[in-house]
Amino acid sequence: MSALLPTYARSGLSFARGEGAFLFTEAGERYLDFSSGIAVTALGHAHPHLVEALTAQAQKVWHVSNLHEIGGQERLGQRLCDATFADRVFFTNSGAEAVEASIKCARRYHFANGAPERYRLVTFEGAFHGRTLATIAAGGQAKHLEGFGPPAEGFDQVATFDIDAVEAAIGDETAGVLLEPIMGEGGMREVPYRFLQDLRALCDEKGLLLVLDEVQSGVGRTGRFYAHEWAEITPDIMASAKGLGGGFPVGACLTTEAVGQAMVPGTHGSTFGGNPLAMAVGNAVLDVVLEPGFLEDVAQMGLRLKQQLAGIADEHSEIIAEVRGQGLMMGLKCKRPNAELIAALRERGMLTVPAGDNVVRLLPPLIVGEAEIDLASRAIDGACAALKSRATEHA
Ligand SMILES: *Cc1c(COP(=O)(O)O)cnc(C)c1O
Repeated sequence: MSALLPTYARSGLSFARGEGAFLFTEAGERYLDFSSGIAVTALGHAHPHLVEALTAQAQKVWHVSNLHEIGGQERLGQRLCDATFADRVFFTNSGAEAVEASIKCARRYHFANGAPERYRLVTFEGAFHGRTLATIAAGGQAKHLEGFGPPAEGFDQVATFDIDAVEAAIGDETAGVLLEPIMGEGGMREVPYRFLQDLRALCDEKGLLLVLDEVQSGVGRTGRFYAHEWAEITPDIMASAKGLGGGFPVGACLTTEAVGQAMVPGTHGSTFGGNPLAMAVGNAVLDVVLEPGFLEDVAQMGLRLKQQLAGIADEHSEIIAEVRGQGLMMGLKCKRPNAELIAALRERGMLTVPAGDNVVRLLPPLIVGEAEIDLASRAIDGACAALKSRATEHA
């Protein structure tokens, strides 16, 4: 019996090492990694620049706490602000903490501006914002809330990307709107650009804050630095994590100056957040992701993948209902249980991730090349063909 809490149904696979888009088991079996540890290892495994940054920092100083100046934190914070809408950054260790900080910032902004009654956020059905008590309440999914007592107060869910429904959910206590530009866990559901633009306008009109959870969609995943850039809008607050540390736990809450000002000394904190090791790796990730041409390459590879997936979906319409997503954040909505396709891909040496709404997520590292995209497409094509022939055998 394992000593670990049984919270995960694990695959049984165990990896000894990784290189780029590939993982290798103890026995030396090779897997094409289109999961990236759930959109985390953005630069693949054992990227030399990240290995160098982490090991160089490890020789110097690991941790000093936020009681002191941390040069790497100032630098990464400034670089994130220079590359986004943001003026201020708070570093965390995870996505849930970044969302949690975002929720606190939204509430505190209104408190600081004489409207402490404005603490509620409008959220969306099918959303995922993490596993803390506040973020499961924000996500609103029964399976995440069950057995954990009354959900944290202050979240009003609407069912669809419908601006009238959002307007109807807004009241005197509303602080803002929280959503993912592409719902990752919820099934790679893309939020229409028009809806994001309407939300921005509605928030401006009503003095509310637009809070984006880009924990999964950020740091180049969709072919832009952050996914909201496609819709040509900016949020007031944004949570980032996953790819930001390339595999080292790094999260961030980014805000405008107006919001950031409200977070005066003592209002929030983290022992580990933004420590020198994390910041060394975060800065190294940005060295690569913000290099001219890198995001264009991601978009290009995303297009190649999308085109090939569209062809596969056409050919295997009994298995695949729809291709979803953007850039290298793609999803296959299945007609058969998604677990069957994931298992068939694993048999072909390819790793993917399940998502809600019966979707298989494809989250390759952002450094993926044409050869690896083509390899993935052949595996998916083969897996679909195998599922089809299994179905006919059983018929
Ligand atoms: C993964 C994820 C989170 C939670 O991140 P953790 O690091 O697991 O806490 C929050 N929001 C979104 C959109 C995510 O994909």
